[in-house]
Amino acid sequence: MLILAIDTSCDETSVAITEGRKIISNSIYSQAVIHSSWGGVVPHLAKRAHEERIDWVISETLKKLKIKKIDYIAVTYGPGLAPALEVGVNKAKELAQKYGKKIIPINHMEGHIYSCFAQNSKGNPQRDFDFPYIAFLISGGHTQLVLFTAHLTYQIIGETVDDAAGESLDKAAKMLGLGYPGGAVIERLAQKGDPHYHQFPRPLAWSKDLNFSFSGLKTSLFYHLKTISESEKKNHLKDLASSFQEAVCESLLIKLKNAIQSTGVNRILVGGGVGQNVYLRKKIRSVVKKAHGQVFFPPLPYLYGDNAGMIGVAGYFKAREGIFVDDRENFDRVPRLTL
Ligand code: ZN
Repeated sequence: MLILAIDTSCDETSVAITEGRKIISNSIYSQAVIHSSWGGVVPHLAKRAHEERIDWVISETLKKLKIKKIDYIAVTYGPGLAPALEVGVNKAKELAQKYGKKIIPINHMEGHIYSCFAQNSKGNPQRDFDFPYIAFLISGGHTQLVLFTAHLTYQIIGETVDDAAGESLDKAAKMLGLGYPGGAVIERLAQKGDPHYHQFPRPLAWSKDLNFSFSGLKTSLFYHLKTISESEKKNHLKDLASSFQEAVCESLLIKLKNAIQSTGVNRILVGGGVGQNVYLRKKIRSVVKKAHGQVFFPPLPYLYGDNAGMIGVAGYFKAREGIFVDDRENFDRVPRLTL
């Protein structure tokens, strides 16, 4: 079963061809350069960039193959930026009509969950499914703990009540004058800093639920920066980055531990861009090891961020169950779609 998959949920235009769990080809056109001078993603610029690029990205993806025949078209219809999602959904509808194909509707977050089971074009790694799992989805737009009990069966057991983890790292980077996107810069500086230089709060650490909050953390950095001189800030940039990263990581880990304890599920899937943070991954491994569990990360670096490959993989499991868009005319993006 060959699937043409499209994801335009945020600032990446991505198109993939997948066959089962195998990603045959995946192209990503990142708009990071366009948005960096604005310090964040600008919706109407994202829409225009997606529109300008999508046909090119599709033809690039198809060019790499001696393509046989596409069976279905999978597309992300939410959650994400409305104007951005619209471009992918409209393109899927256009292609579906032109070639008489069915559309598989995909929730971007289920794509991130299935990213841990994606394979390269040779079918590696072979990882089998062994339900249940807790999927820990950590990105610039989302922070969620999801109980994944069977294919396509999800229950959100915890999520952020305000900012996403990646968003808080980006905002901290901006306050520290490190530019956008800032997560990777914070991580690099933090490697040489003291994580205990300043004790930032761990919001909601003691609450019994599995929810996260990161906006207080950002505020705390804002006020802390007001109490120190410009030269102290400059001299302790690495320590500030390290202490902030520590607070974000610990907030994430506290809830992961609680989730394992309260559900009894100790097989963990990690998806989303923040999972690329090596320090965080090390910490997650140690938490899961203490719980005698197993942790799985996306097998290839590009699968952490937004990509259409994971959308095609999720699409395969949906198509297998016969889940398609019935009414193509009225199929529309759902920016606040939940699992
Ligand atoms: Zn994403």
